[in-house]
Amino acid sequence: MSTPPQDDAVATLVVHRLGELRERVARAVREAGREPGSVRVLLATKTMAVPVIRAAVLAGGTLLGENRVQELTAKAPGLVDVAPTWHVIGPLQSNKVNAALAWASAVQSVDSLGLAERLARRCAVLDRDLDVMVQVNVSGESTKNGVPPEEALAVATAVAALPRLRLTGLMTIGARSSDQTLVRAGFATLRGLRDELLASAAPGTTEARELSMGMSGDLELAIAEGATTVRVGSAVFGERPTR
Ligand SMILES: *Cc1c(COP(=O)(O)O)cnc(C)c1O
Repeated sequence: MSTPPQDDAVATLVVHRLGELRERVARAVREAGREPGSVRVLLATKTMAVPVIRAAVLAGGTLLGENRVQELTAKAPGLVDVAPTWHVIGPLQSNKVNAALAWASAVQSVDSLGLAERLARRCAVLDRDLDVMVQVNVSGESTKNGVPPEEALAVATAVAALPRLRLTGLMTIGARSSDQTLVRAGFATLRGLRDELLASAAPGTTEARELSMGMSGDLELAIAEGATTVRVGSAVFGERPTR
């Protein structure tokens, strides 16, 4: 299957940028005094075309995240041969749960108990398990999804108790601010909530160690606060077209 020349050029660039990103993450891990390899990279593929994503997967970027189920179901079939792992990282409407579960091995953006219950019911029908994270809105910005920090423990504990769902941790999108202290404080909030959750030893919470936080612009701050997964789009794929 031939690809248009501009896709080949973009693919080469993506592979190069992925290498640079890996170095950036490794440096941040080192500077935070953390174990090498303790932070994994998820590539956020929204708006990106299949040939470009394929190049990233072949270069080892095998963990992918999509915001929109529509994009996930459009792209995933064309990447089956390179077998990436897909996570849902955007708002998931209940009528899209079935479509999402056809491709996703995890949903990082669980923002209500209702959504978690729906996922658990669907998993029961499919006779499968699903990794989930609870998304927390640490910045309080009204444009961001996620449960408020003060409700996060209650929601996470309830989600963890549901059958078929395995709560692996918490996810957040950092504050949109140039004030690094503020951004970092938000990541520290998520870490504190994760620590409280683990300390609660409530049923289903004992494996909830993950902190999915940090993106192209703020991943060093997130890694300094204990991120275990950073979700990166533009630093690897370039700027997205505005939509
Ligand atoms: C787009 C997106 C990212 C990646 O953002 P960049 O700034 O492009 O790195 C991470 N997480 C979520 C939920 C996103 O929607």
